[in-house]
Amino acid sequence: MRYVSTRGRAPTLGFDDVLLAGLATDGGLYVPETWPQFSAADLTAFAGLDYASLAAKVMAPFVAGSVIEKELPRLTKQAYARFTHTAVAPLKQLSANEWLLELFHGPTLAFKDFALQLVGLLFEEVLKARKQKITIVGATSGDTGSAAIEACRGRANIEIFILHPEGRTSEVQRRQMTTVDAPNVHNIALKGTFDDCQDVVKALFADATFRGEFNLSAVNSINWARIMAQIVYYIWAGVRLGAPERQVTFAVPTGNFGNVFAGYCAMRMGLPVARFLVGSNRNDILTRYFETGAMTIEGVQPSLSPSMDIQVSSNFERLLFEVSDRDGAAVSRMMDQFKQSASYTVAPAAHAKITALFGGRRLDDEGTKQVMREVRASTGELVDPHTAVGIYAARSEGLDPAIPRIALATAHPAKFPDAVKAATGVSSPLPAVMADIFNRTERFQVLDNDLDAVKRLIRSHV
Ligand SMILES: *Cc1c(COP(=O)(O)O)cnc(C)c1O
Repeated sequence: MRYVSTRGRAPTLGFDDVLLAGLATDGGLYVPETWPQFSAADLTAFAGLDYASLAAKVMAPFVAGSVIEKELPRLTKQAYARFTHTAVAPLKQLSANEWLLELFHGPTLAFKDFALQLVGLLFEEVLKARKQKITIVGATSGDTGSAAIEACRGRANIEIFILHPEGRTSEVQRRQMTTVDAPNVHNIALKGTFDDCQDVVKALFADATFRGEFNLSAVNSINWARIMAQIVYYIWAGVRLGAPERQVTFAVPTGNFGNVFAGYCAMRMGLPVARFLVGSNRNDILTRYFETGAMTIEGVQPSLSPSMDIQVSSNFERLLFEVSDRDGAAVSRMMDQFKQSASYTVAPAAHAKITALFGGRRLDDEGTKQVMREVRASTGELVDPHTAVGIYAARSEGLDPAIPRIALATAHPAKFPDAVKAATGVSSPLPAVMADIFNRTERFQVLDNDLDAVKRLIRSHV
């Protein structure tokens, strides 16, 4: 499989190069040159497979020609063996036609483990084959950092440095990063905000000499391999609840648009999907887009669902490319416009294609707590604030009652104990694998918000 950039001016690459590159050289994101197709008979056969076997089947066309092509079944087995639920991604029925797809049984209790557990292994394989080493650098406000660290811990040929804002993550989130005992994992508590952390990371990547010397790489959500791994659970849930005979609807709490875009990919590959309902918190750039056709940046406000406190949904660019009939020049113009004026408008024909398939809903913190209470009262389930936003989106449109609605549960409630307690009065205990997290030793370095200090630290370890 070859990959093309959404902005049309970068060289096409094979899977291994796309994995290591992340962003395309023209600033665009990579998408596959063609969408692999699964027939109705394929989908029927998928229903009998366990999660890791299905993952290998779904991803096989995307890695054709890669050094990992033949290794994929072994790698998916290894990646999903660390999940604590035997189903990996269990479906739980909430009401007559409403289901929760639990994506939080991985090592860090959030859905990002589905992609990152595999991506860590893919990096290792490709680097081994190429006899290369990389240094992964990232900034986190919480979830992404721990998922990336868990994915890269102990892997040959990878050093990982994660910056978090000192004192500004939850204690569970910080300990999930800092109690990992592996010599290639380096936590930096920066004296500053998340934006300061991100600025330092950007500056490291912008320094071409430093970037080249340490072979810097990122595992952020614009990496195609992360999207690819997430396609699997849409197909997994779809075939369990009726595909290929019946359609399903997905509701997805959304930040960077990576998760829900993976659902769109599953649909392009043959899964019958009626609709995608996109949930946002008060940071509602996507909801406003669906309502108006204009994507316009506003400031970020903190909310109960911090992993969706975003200013820009980077992966939306991939959808724009698809609905613009893969016109890279058109996407490029929109992104230039966005950079200049913090706003762009999608052409009416393309916007109509998007709204025919996607609907957006926003929910503020009060509403989020109310959904958490309602779900608790009607089903006995505790859900985290992100999941609550998704459930709200699932309930927001009058759809054909014969079509199952699947809300994605993106984090375990124990990851957000304060919000869960405030909403329901109940505490959600940490699962057994993490119960001792408050007793483990933490390892991190506190650094000033100073680019050179961060560079010195990286230099001293690599
Ligand atoms: C990252 C994250 C999201 C947002 O996912 P995107 O792919 O950025 O849309 C939602 N919920 C949780 C718990 C997350 O960690």
